[in-house]
Amino acid sequence: MNTVACYTLGCKVNQYETEAMEEIFEKEGYKIVNENEIADIYVINTCTVTNLSDRKSRQFISKAKKNNKDALIAVVGCYSQVAPEEVSKIEGVDVIIGTTDRNKIVELCEKAKVNKEKINVVKNIRTQKEFETINIKDIKSKTRAYIKIQDGCNQFCSYCIIPYARGPIRSRDLDDIIKETKKLAEAGFKEIVLTGIHVASYGKDKKDISLIEVLEEVGKIDKIQRIRLSSIEPTLIDHDFMERIVKIGKVCDHFHLSLQSGSPTVLKRMNRKYTPEEYKNIVDIIRQYMPNAGITTDIIVGFPGETEEEFNETYEFVKEIGFSRIHVFKYSPRRGTPAAKHENQVDGNIKSIRSERLISLGEEQMKKFNSNFIDATLSVLFEEKSKKDENFMEGYTSNYIRVKAKKDLSLIGSIVNVNIKEGKDDYLVGEIINKG
Ligand code: SF4
Repeated sequence: MNTVACYTLGCKVNQYETEAMEEIFEKEGYKIVNENEIADIYVINTCTVTNLSDRKSRQFISKAKKNNKDALIAVVGCYSQVAPEEVSKIEGVDVIIGTTDRNKIVELCEKAKVNKEKINVVKNIRTQKEFETINIKDIKSKTRAYIKIQDGCNQFCSYCIIPYARGPIRSRDLDDIIKETKKLAEAGFKEIVLTGIHVASYGKDKKDISLIEVLEEVGKIDKIQRIRLSSIEPTLIDHDFMERIVKIGKVCDHFHLSLQSGSPTVLKRMNRKYTPEEYKNIVDIIRQYMPNAGITTDIIVGFPGETEEEFNETYEFVKEIGFSRIHVFKYSPRRGTPAAKHENQVDGNIKSIRSERLISLGEEQMKKFNSNFIDATLSVLFEEKSKKDENFMEGYTSNYIRVKAKKDLSLIGSIVNVNIKEGKDDYLVGEIINKG
């Protein structure tokens, strides 16, 4: 039996697409093996979000070639979409696929092998109009399933290469989303995460539907108990959206709203479409409808030209909001984006100092948020055995707090009521009081 190993870099969407490609290979009789094993074909599903991601993608390609010098190498995804010529010059690459045509992966690999020729099918992504469906039927992961509902982005933030790698907004048909969700519900998944490159823009290419209608329809599927949104654009949220969310009754009170900066001038240079005041109003609206909501975010420090005052605006704004979790990124220039050409790049040491300050503020805020729930009863979807402590298992609350409780393997995959006893570094510990 021919074997395939896949390496995945980057985001959840890439992970989803790798799983879908693995299924296509399996359907054609291939055996999926671990990425460190000897395989006949290696698929490297690349990322291009920073220059470092490009480098890592290249390292994975060489690593695969070292594993088996006779293997066929297929490079797929965002890096090959943005730089197909560069990828084509890397020694040993046989098939180059961008962010379309991944459903033809087997056919293309077999053709390259038989004809002993290099194949490059990367197309102009900005002219792509249709959502390319690649389904996952057999989820290998545990209890939370991701469903890709959207691709592409029309925002063109000045630091981001993604609109060039993923093309314009394309939304998946609602029927198709419902079909896949029903299958996942039948397979036992309690929670689904609606994901995409810019989920908030779902429906903008379709005119007669938006994200809230998707949530309402998915909410009607009985066995699905939780619906979580992956990162969303803050501007999506208003009173009407929140009223409808609350009515659905299954949408998690967890919102990942990418802030990127709390300085109005930096946001403008980033080409983000909101001001800190607007962002704050949106958080207030969420909390009005869901008082215990976990608000998580991403922040970039050291964006070109970021002064000490601008950084302090961000710092103070973060304090004002009180996030439940913050991911801090040091700005890293991405060639091909307007921000990378900016002359006023911030020194690496300054970026590190700013990043450390925000990370420690984020940790403080997370502990404070988590401590609000000590002595409370929270429902937790247990996902796995704890990696660090074999007597415990862990899972997440709907507002995305990690919770540990004494291990009971029969409860993995179930939503269970837990009485919270204490807070640790980045999680809570509790006792199971019933099976929810
Ligand atoms: S919204 Fe901005 S940061 Fe997000 S993918 Fe689009 S361009 Fe990139």
